[in-house]
Amino acid sequence: MLNNQGRPTQPEAASGETIAHKTFTGNRGLQTHEPLIFETGRNDVTGVDIDEPEEFTPRLGAMLRKATIDLPGLSEPEAMRHYVRLSQKNYAIDAGLYPLGSCTMKHNPRLNEKMARLPGLSDIHPLQPQSTVQGALALIDELANWLMEITGTHAVAMSPKAGAHGETCGMMAIKAAIEARGEGATRNVVLVPESAHGTNPATAALIGYSVRSIRADASGTVRVADVKAALGPDVAAIMLTNPNTCGLFEKDIVEIAEAVHEAGGYFYCDGANLNAIMGKVRPGDLGIDAMHINLHKTFSTPHGGGGPGAGPVVLSQALAPFAPVPFVAKDEGGHSLIEHAEGSQSFGRMTAFHGQMGMFVRALTYMLSHGGDGLRQASEDAVLSANYIRACLKDIMSGPFVEQPCMHEVVFDDAWLKGTGVTTLDFAKAMIDEGYHPMTMYFPLVVHGAMLIEPTESESLASLDLFIMTLRDMAFRARRGEAERFTQAPYFAPMRRLDETRAARQPVLRWTKPETVQVEAVAAE
Ligand SMILES: *Cc1c(COP(=O)(O)O)cnc(C)c1O
Repeated sequence: MLNNQGRPTQPEAASGETIAHKTFTGNRGLQTHEPLIFETGRNDVTGVDIDEPEEFTPRLGAMLRKATIDLPGLSEPEAMRHYVRLSQKNYAIDAGLYPLGSCTMKHNPRLNEKMARLPGLSDIHPLQPQSTVQGALALIDELANWLMEITGTHAVAMSPKAGAHGETCGMMAIKAAIEARGEGATRNVVLVPESAHGTNPATAALIGYSVRSIRADASGTVRVADVKAALGPDVAAIMLTNPNTCGLFEKDIVEIAEAVHEAGGYFYCDGANLNAIMGKVRPGDLGIDAMHINLHKTFSTPHGGGGPGAGPVVLSQALAPFAPVPFVAKDEGGHSLIEHAEGSQSFGRMTAFHGQMGMFVRALTYMLSHGGDGLRQASEDAVLSANYIRACLKDIMSGPFVEQPCMHEVVFDDAWLKGTGVTTLDFAKAMIDEGYHPMTMYFPLVVHGAMLIEPTESESLASLDLFIMTLRDMAFRARRGEAERFTQAPYFAPMRRLDETRAARQPVLRWTKPETVQVEAVAAE
C-alpha cells in the first residue's frame, strides 16, 4: 500500500508469510505500522482547548494567512504515541552494536547527559553578560586545553559545528595564511588521497581550490614519493586522514609533512579517526598544521540522527594567528570572550556564537571521567576490538589489508562473495535481519565492494563474539548458495528495500493534502 507521497506504508509480506498470519492492523507484534502524523490526525479537530481570540486588527498586511494552517489535530496521547513509535523504528547505539566504520559510534555515557543538564550550564544564553557566565567560559577554556594537550598543538578554534565545518575552518585558516604571504593567486591546489572521505575534496573545492588526487599504494597508504611528485609552487595544502579510512596508520606522515612544508604548503589532517591514536601519539608532533576533532566521534557526544555535532579545529603555531573569533582568553580579571582581536590576522567568524556548548560539556565530562590514562586505554581497546574482528573473520571474508594489523577499523572487500550472487549491499541488508546496523558499505572507494567495520571500545567481548559468530554464519550461508536470504533482505525490518537513489535524488519533503475525491451521482433513468 502506498500513501499519497509514494511511500510504502506497510511492510511487504515477509517471505514465507502466509495469509494466516497477516495481522488485521498491519502491525507485526510490537512493531507497529505508523502512518504520517498528517494521515493520523484530522485538521478539523484539535487536541488543545484555547479560547477564540477577541476581535483584533491583524498587522500582517498582505502576509496574513488566508487558508487554514492544516495542522493535524491530535490529543496528547495520540501525539506521544506517534513520536514514541517512530523513535522505536530507529536503530541507535543505545539499542545495539553500531559498526559504522569511519564514524566512531561509541557509547554516550549517561554522566555526560547529567552534566549537560545542570541548570547552570543548560539554562544560560550566549548573549548573557560575560561576568555571569564565567563558569561556562572556564569550561570552554579547559576543554580547549585538553584538546591542545591531546594533540600537541598551539591553538584551537572551538566554534565549528561538525567535522566538515571544521575542515572548512582549518582550510580557511590555511588560505588566510597563504594570502598573508602574498601567494593567494598562485597557490590554488590541494592534494587529497583517493581514499579520503568525500568531505575533504568537497571542502577544498568549496573554498575555491582545485583538487589533485594522490593514489594509495597496494598497502593502503600514501607513498612519500607520490606526494613529492604532486607537490609544487601551486600547492596550498595536503589533506590527509590519519589513521586513514582504510583503518591504517600513515607511517610516512612525518616525511610527508616535511615535504609539504618544504614546498611551502600546509598540512591539514582529517582527525575524524583520532579514536585510534588518542593518548598514543600527538598529531602536532607529526607535523600537522590544522586538524578537526569530531567531539561526536572520539569524545562520545551523541552522533545519531544528525544531532548537534562539534568539530573544534586545533592549529599549529604557524596557523594560530589566523584562527577565527571568538575565542576565550584568561587574565587576572577572569575569563573573557575575544570577539575582535586588535591587529590580529583572524580570518573572521565561523558561527554566530561560540560553538555547541552542550557538546562541550559532554566532551569535557568524558575526558575528566576517563583521565589521560583512560583516554589512552579507550584508544587501545578500540584498536584491539577491530583487530579481534579482523583476526576472527579473515579466514572466511577477504580484504586487501586483513593480513596486517589495523587501527580502529577493519575493511573487508567483496572478492569472497564472487559467484555467490550476493553483493555487499545484500550482505549489509541481511545484517539488519540479524539485528545489527550495517557496517559502512562501498567506502573507502579504493576497496572494491568495501565493508568497513568499526566496533569501538564500547563493546564487551561477549558482544564482539556474538557479532563475529553472526557474520560467520551469514558468510557460510552466502557461500553455501542461500542467496535469497540476502538478495531479498531485510525480511524483518519495518520497511523492506527502498529506492535509496530515488529517495536521495528526488526527496519528497513536503506533505501535500490528498485531493478530495468528487463522486458524481449519476441519476438512474
Ligand atoms: C565523519 C568524518 C568526516 C566528517 O565529519 P562530520 O562531523 O560528519 O561532518 C570527515 N572525515 C572523516 C574521515 C570522517 O570519518
